Amino acid sequence: MNNILQLDSNNCSGCAVCAAVCPTSAITFGQDERGFYMPFVDENKCISCGKCRTVCLKGGISGRKITDGKLYAARLFDEKVTAQCSSGGIAWDITALSVKQGRYVAGCVYDVTENKAKHIIARTLEECEGFKNSKYIQSETQDCFKQLVEIAKADPSASFTVFGLPCQIYGIRKAFENLPNDLLCVELFCHGVPTHKLWESYLDYLGIENIKEVNFRHKRDGWHQFGIFVRGENEEHFGTSAPVGRDYFYKVFFDENVLRDSCIDCKLRKFESLADIRLGDFWGKRYIHDNKGVSAVLTLTEKGEEVVSLLEGTEILEKDIPLTDYRYTCFEDKKDVVDIKSREKALKLLARGKTTDKVVRGVFMTYPLKKKYIRLRLELKSLLKKRR
Ligand SMILES: Cc1cc2nc3c(=O)[nH]c(=O)nc-3n(C[C@H](O)[C@H](O)[C@H](O)COP(=O)(O)OP(=O)(O)OC[C@H]3O[C@@H](n4cnc5c(N)ncnc54)[C@H](O)[C@@H]3O)c2cc1C
Repeated sequence: MNNILQLDSNNCSGCAVCAAVCPTSAITFGQDERGFYMPFVDENKCISCGKCRTVCLKGGISGRKITDGKLYAARLFDEKVTAQCSSGGIAWDITALSVKQGRYVAGCVYDVTENKAKHIIARTLEECEGFKNSKYIQSETQDCFKQLVEIAKADPSASFTVFGLPCQIYGIRKAFENLPNDLLCVELFCHGVPTHKLWESYLDYLGIENIKEVNFRHKRDGWHQFGIFVRGENEEHFGTSAPVGRDYFYKVFFDENVLRDSCIDCKLRKFESLADIRLGDFWGKRYIHDNKGVSAVLTLTEKGEEVVSLLEGTEILEKDIPLTDYRYTCFEDKKDVVDIKSREKALKLLARGKTTDKVVRGVFMTYPLKKKYIRLRLELKSLLKKRR
């Protein structure tokens, strides 16, 4: 057989583009026992065409260096919309421009009926409303990406804007490589995604029924706090990542130990990209006193540059910023911070359906000193690097 199963499964990002390009629908995606989206191949349907391998980053990546990009700091003029978005809201202005240009826009929404994140295709601003705000869980992309490829094949004049994580963008760009359609790719600076079991166990822990709204980046306490808000029919929960009242979801998320295998040593996060634009939170000293949110906008192609110049609702706060001024954990080597024993234990507890409070008590409370030591060692390492 000639399909993705012959490639190293540890590096599968779960982007589901292989399923989108499979001519016989032999590949489907579902969660494995650890809560990660993984491909299942029906060998009876597989015709060994190898198309799935051509879009897969497991075959080895080749993209543009992110150090060659141009970095801007920006945010929306509209404060109300900025407040609804994770950072400075630039993703929304790119969405608005794309809708105006008549493009198909693919982005991630939170589905309250299934309590998961998933990608959908939209054509009007109303339909795009759910794209606002980051969902810090892996989005299910299989159906959306399949539809994108089908629309593109049926209509060579159709144009697209796709928002996604660097691995998703890598796959979709590869899938469009031999298609004439105009494709704008916007990816996010990425910390990595945790197992979906973390989200399930967190919702079990909260026990909120009939969830109506989830906001992973509620700015009630300002942009620098990661505020998580879940509203049900009769009750709601708000927690933050701040040390006091630390929220269990963010505690485990930022501990890095339950990230997807492919996120731990992801080259796309750190070095390379096939996107036109990469967006993130402008963390670091520069905007430390800003409470509304500032986006880091990294243009990687001429098309990306042109799009930024066309954004009518965006205020460019600064341009030509050296990328070294934007440093955050998305650039660090996760292998240095992941503790293998704790990782295995946490993933096991989550797979057994333990609620997040029990996982935090059972795993993450037991080695705070070790964690502090790891962080200190990393900070020292980067300090010495800067001095040299
Ligand atoms: C899992 C994840 C990890 C991230 N890690 C970092 C990081 O380490 N450092 C950093 O600076 N920024 C990170 N970001 C990006 C950051 O959270 C903001 O998305 C970014 O700054 C854009 O913000 P905005 O205000 O312009 O738009 P927002 O209103 O936040 O719009 C978000 C856009 O991202 C898309 N999106 C939302 N959730 C997902 C998802 N789960 N998968 C794919 N696409 C999604 C939506 O379609 C929308 O277009 C991460 C985002 C995600 C989803």
